[in-house]
Amino acid sequence: MALLEVSHLQKSFADKAILAGIDLQVEQGEIVVILGPSGSGKSTFLRCLNLLETPDAGVITLDNAVFNATKPTKPATLALRRKTAFVFQNYALFRNKTALENITEALVVVKGLSKEVAQEKGLAILKQVGMEDFQNAWPSSLSGGQQQRIGIGRAMALEPELLLFDEPTSALDPERVGEILHLMKRLAAENQSMIIVTHEIPFAREVADRVIFIDEGRIIESGPPSRVLDNPKDPRTRQFLNQVL
Ligand code: ADP
Ligand code: MG
Repeated sequence: MALLEVSHLQKSFADKAILAGIDLQVEQGEIVVILGPSGSGKSTFLRCLNLLETPDAGVITLDNAVFNATKPTKPATLALRRKTAFVFQNYALFRNKTALENITEALVVVKGLSKEVAQEKGLAILKQVGMEDFQNAWPSSLSGGQQQRIGIGRAMALEPELLLFDEPTSALDPERVGEILHLMKRLAAENQSMIIVTHEIPFAREVADRVIFIDEGRIIESGPPSRVLDNPKDPRTRQFLNQVL
């Protein structure tokens, strides 16, 4: 059984189909990179997987638990969020919490840990993401790269079955992109299952087990990175790659 099975996920906004029936399976330890033009539904898809958006139709099975994603109860939403964690393009840190508190808050609220245990774990995570010297820093005092380290730390702390990254480096200064990709490569080496939306093609080539191309809310191409990136079948994939490469 795959770690994640998504069947026929659909989502419309104002009667416009944004996800037109997405089917996807992700195996334990697999790293899937999603490519696609702006507005093709990549973020909406990831957000549905974490129930940040409620899909109109479709079933999500994660780690053998079936989620009726269209009418999620609060306990089901929490259960799904214990198994998936989201890393946002714009970091989405709590502005009024310190770096450490951003991580411990998630551990207390989502994982139900005591403050003491969360604190200890939070400090260990800060170390893993190279931010141990900034535990009391406010997000606004940190660079984008540092904020994203905290964002990734917050997601890692939950020890999710599946990590979801939505363009984690696209808001960063170019010289900061490498350090975040490096951190993600380390997670990949630890066999962390991940779905990553990114335009970093060399990263996709190196790290992905599978590359998927989405256009207008549909998966139109899926395969090993060498096949999709070097020998795309669909003209839309070719056109997109010509633009980003
Ligand atoms: P991508 O991440 O591939 O750039 P998105 O999933 O963000 O694409 O958006 C796909 C389309 O859905 C866009 O046209 C966007 O304007 C629309 N959309 C996304 N979120 C909402 C929302 N909450 N309300 C209305 N329209 C939305
Ligand atoms: Mg997006």
